[in-house]
Amino acid sequence: MLVFSRLALFRGGLPGRRAASAHRAQPVCGRAALSSAPRHSRIFPALFGMFAPFLHAAVPADAEPAAPPRTAAVEAAPPSPVTPPVRRTWVFAADGVTFDARFPSARLDECRRTAPDTFAITITPENTPINPSPWFAFTVRAESAKTVIVDLKCVGGSLRYRPKISVDGRSWISLPEEAFRLGENKHEGRLQLEVGPEPLWVAAQEIIGVEHLEAWMRALERLPFVTRAEIGRSVQGRPLHKIEIGAATADAFLVVIGRQHPPETTGTAALLGFVETLAGDTPLARDFRQHFRTLVVPLLNPDGVEHGHWRHNVGGVDLNRDWGPFRQPETRAVRDEILALRDRGRIYFFLDFHSTFFDVFYTRTDAEPTQPPLFVRDWVAALHARFPDYPVKRSASPNSTSATSLGWMHRTFGVPAVTYEIGDHTDRARLRLIATGAAEETMTLLLQARAAAPAPSVPAASPQN
Ligand SMILES: [Zn+2]
Repeated sequence: MLVFSRLALFRGGLPGRRAASAHRAQPVCGRAALSSAPRHSRIFPALFGMFAPFLHAAVPADAEPAAPPRTAAVEAAPPSPVTPPVRRTWVFAADGVTFDARFPSARLDECRRTAPDTFAITITPENTPINPSPWFAFTVRAESAKTVIVDLKCVGGSLRYRPKISVDGRSWISLPEEAFRLGENKHEGRLQLEVGPEPLWVAAQEIIGVEHLEAWMRALERLPFVTRAEIGRSVQGRPLHKIEIGAATADAFLVVIGRQHPPETTGTAALLGFVETLAGDTPLARDFRQHFRTLVVPLLNPDGVEHGHWRHNVGGVDLNRDWGPFRQPETRAVRDEILALRDRGRIYFFLDFHSTFFDVFYTRTDAEPTQPPLFVRDWVAALHARFPDYPVKRSASPNSTSATSLGWMHRTFGVPAVTYEIGDHTDRARLRLIATGAAEETMTLLLQARAAAPAPSVPAASPQN
């Protein structure tokens, strides 16, 4: 009876979701709406779940990513100090229920009991102003099996992510509608969780944390053609690592970076699949590695990932708006590593992996010359040909002074560059398939480009520091 009454409470407590067609996804990563935007503009995507069809298929054609609307305001505004993450346990003896945020990437700022087996938790950003991607991660357990209700509220943003659950922090399941209802105001949602003595992990997205990426790099460097090195330290002294893949004698470079923004784990999942394909045991990959060396920095913001940040580093800065000022040690370290490639050969292509509401590739326009010429146009066409049922969405904007990695790479080296955005809700198996295919098309096109115009050295660069 108790369970039934709670289910009734759950089902009646929040209004049902609107029809998918009533919503329009808007990108947050590259061209985000800010927390100061009016409420109606902070639209939560309508399609959820790890097994949802590609979200962008439901995005109206006119939902083109907007030009950077208020980025300048964020860059101009002095950031408030970063609040350290809350690392504590909340024990509710009356219910025998415990919430825990004492683990890497956790985010749970406040937790209180509002009724028997019912709890209100609050998440807040690390500082403001911020492009909100409200991240949360915690565990909950109970002395005996029971249903608990969790009212999740985020301060200064809309709940962008559909909660995922896990019992080991590795295998995750997206909560279906019967277990998660988003509130009408989008700031709040209600979770119904079946808990017991074993801790249940609850997080905004699958956690791919510092430890996971460290282990991934350690495994990769066991390959004979892979090296790893520290290139610098974060604000809090965490090592920033690069891996390099390919023959030591190769003088042609592909550059791949990722995870400037902590919650964007679908971007990281795509990066892993992409890089593993470059390191794979195929004739194409072997040929590629003979001629190309790939520089990979998979984790630019280890402090932010460790602390469960919504977007920034511990300096309180959006790292992908720092490729110009270079005020943060993380961006400076990667910049210096990329600039050092001038002495080693020529950069052919640059990819920066992120996540947003739907799959999209941000690029410069084809009118802006690159070397190799029109490479991005051909790359997108190759992906389209390879995946006819995958509507490759390209968003090209003219050259600008934007302090993104994409802008800086194009300005500095004149190379083709792509911000590779994966949808928050893109099917994970498909995400991997696309990343693998993108890596193979990248290798094929780069080998062709190199054969067509082998350049002995990089174009004259005038790095903008
Ligand atoms: Zn991003």
